[in-house]
Amino acid sequence: MLIDSYDRVVDYIRISVTERCNFRCQYCMPEKPFSWVPRENLLTFEELFLFIKVAIDEGVKKIRITGGEPLLREDLDLFIKMIYDYSPSIDLAMTTNGYLLPQVAGKLKDAGLKRINISIDSLKPEVAHRIAQKDVLPSVLKGVEEALRVGLKVKINMVPMKGMNADEVLDVLEYCKERGMTLRYIEYMENIHASKEIERLDTKELLEMIAKRYKFKEIGYDGSSPSRYFELEDGYRFGTIEPYGDDFCKQCNRIRLTAEGFLIPCLYFDEAMSISKAIKAGDVAAAAEVLRDVVKNKPEKNRWGGEGEASSRAFYETGG
Ligand code: SAM
Repeated sequence: MLIDSYDRVVDYIRISVTERCNFRCQYCMPEKPFSWVPRENLLTFEELFLFIKVAIDEGVKKIRITGGEPLLREDLDLFIKMIYDYSPSIDLAMTTNGYLLPQVAGKLKDAGLKRINISIDSLKPEVAHRIAQKDVLPSVLKGVEEALRVGLKVKINMVPMKGMNADEVLDVLEYCKERGMTLRYIEYMENIHASKEIERLDTKELLEMIAKRYKFKEIGYDGSSPSRYFELEDGYRFGTIEPYGDDFCKQCNRIRLTAEGFLIPCLYFDEAMSISKAIKAGDVAAAAEVLRDVVKNKPEKNRWGGEGEASSRAFYETGG
């Protein structure tokens, strides 16, 4: 079992399989980065799988594949099947923008994927286009329907921004409610890569907007999830993620792995250790040692002091 210095059991790893993305979301990767990580630095699926086996043997029970856009990586379903075959009981999930899902949702489900989080920031084609800088909405909505049709459990992520999509928080809620999908509103997190003019809709304002249409009560955190959940009178639940608070740190159970092999103990923490050398040499004992070190050094709390503080690490590197 992996236990950090604050007695938290770390059993969840988020793996970014690529930093590349087919969207240029204003709040994440508005422009193509000056340079991508060279392909030869990326871990192959075989190398990632070698590390995943180490992590599972050390006690990891939940794996989320993310990116960049994970579906840009060819044969992702085969990678998922490798993980599933090694440990069918692993809680295997993915976060995606959904654009390529219409073609691959069935294959992912058959390979062993259980749950999928899809990012939808707007239900208006022109607003979705403005945010992602591409005509994305028709494919994303088809992707959602296909994921539901093949039996994946779907959650939706929305980043509400003033002057952009904040007027749609109720529309997206209705859309999710009608389809039985949990919606999580993620507060926009400042970062140096995002467009400068983005203005966060904070959770207090968001809840006031929802309260104009619905009565709801707070349920609280669900296990180690960073989402705070709320329940409408008809039982529908939605969540909010407020990264500027650190309430969720005390139950944090996760670490992150980047596509080039950096293990990161906390999203808001610059330190990281690489497993790349050990894994490329096939040295699983050394990789396990790096993993245990990273867990041991997991900080008690995230380092975001508050308003205005920005992360230098891009979310498309760490997987958000
Ligand atoms: N491409 C996939 C997607 O769109 O979901 C996975 C990667 S993306 C980095 C993962 C999540 O991070 C998405 O839900 C996205 O909305 C969120 N995200 C990215 N940048 C963010 C920011 N600056 N503030 C809040 N959430 C952000």
